Amino acid sequence: ATSAGDSTLREYLQHSVTSGSGSGLPLLVQRTLAKQVTLIECIGRGKYGEVWRGHWHGESIAVKIFFSRDEESWKRETEIYSTVLLRHENILGFIGSDMTSRNSCTQLWLMTHYYPQGSLFDHLNRNALSHNDMIWICLSIANGLVHLHTEIFGTEGKPAMAHRDLKSKNILVTANGTCVIADFGLAVTHSHVTGQLDLGHNPKVGTKRYMAPEVLDESIDMECFEALRRTDIYAFGLVLWEVCRRTISCGIAEEYKVPFYDVVPMDPSFEDMRKVVCIDNYRPSIPNRWSSDSLLAGMSKLMKECWHQNPNVRLPALRIKKTIHKLASVDEKIRLDFDEVCV
Ligand code: ADP
Ligand code: MG
Ligand code: MG
Repeated sequence: ATSAGDSTLREYLQHSVTSGSGSGLPLLVQRTLAKQVTLIECIGRGKYGEVWRGHWHGESIAVKIFFSRDEESWKRETEIYSTVLLRHENILGFIGSDMTSRNSCTQLWLMTHYYPQGSLFDHLNRNALSHNDMIWICLSIANGLVHLHTEIFGTEGKPAMAHRDLKSKNILVTANGTCVIADFGLAVTHSHVTGQLDLGHNPKVGTKRYMAPEVLDESIDMECFEALRRTDIYAFGLVLWEVCRRTISCGIAEEYKVPFYDVVPMDPSFEDMRKVVCIDNYRPSIPNRWSSDSLLAGMSKLMKECWHQNPNVRLPALRIKKTIHKLASVDEKIRLDFDEVCV
């Protein structure tokens, strides 16, 4: 990037995040963050950039490094995390954003809490789950989604938000087996107070495999915030299916698979997905064994309500959370000390 570009970005850091530091460190502190961090190891690499584990004041943190061509994602994610009141136990903890230069290239950094267990995708690939594990994972994601989707009124409030790229790779697993929602590069906000829907400036539209039918056939009304929230619920339904496959009953669990593994290729095209999801109206199949396990049977009913073809039939996040809680409360093997978190 040119030095002119750099100073524009620097200005952006200093002025654009007008709402203050939101859930991160004070902005003045953020501007010296990169200098205080030592990068240790790369823990993720993609088209987007890289994620590193770094050291900051003797602590491990995660550093997401965006290529300067993906400036819009970095700006968006910084903006979203800078929203007052986004901080929540089921949302990835934000430390701050900064820009720095390595090998004479501008790098955009976003620093967050570090989770050694990595993504839910990694976790499910490595581990089968007990009923208890499964409930904590699903309930904590639902809890994070309720917080994200809900507008909080007041001077220190938060707008409602839709994630638009919910999937098992964008959910991280904490040491106690609960989850946090991550990767807000595509998130949109909506406020009833200002009546404003802020779509950001990011032309990217999420992961094809997890796209709702109304996104794939382009019938969705992008001006309608409720419609965007319902695409998150669709994706959450697919995540529930991924988690339930790994949940043991009578000593067995299915192996890990991505949704639609059986009907589309590895990197499916928009058309591949549209045929399967919109035309064939196909959804992930429910293994027979789930019907003889009351918890998994309840979860399969729930996921079908989440990934329903008709967006108006899909449940709101709060209803999903309450349903999972209710299913768990009739299973005597599940620790019920999450009451205070959940009701
Ligand atoms: P992208 O927008 O490029 O998809 P993500 O924020 O989703 O970037 O991060 C990519 C991957 O890096 C995640 O799927 C996860 O495996 C890993 N990762 C990201 N943040 C963290 C973190 N805070 N702790 C541990 N692993 C992380
Ligand atoms: Mg991601
Ligand atoms: Mg992303």
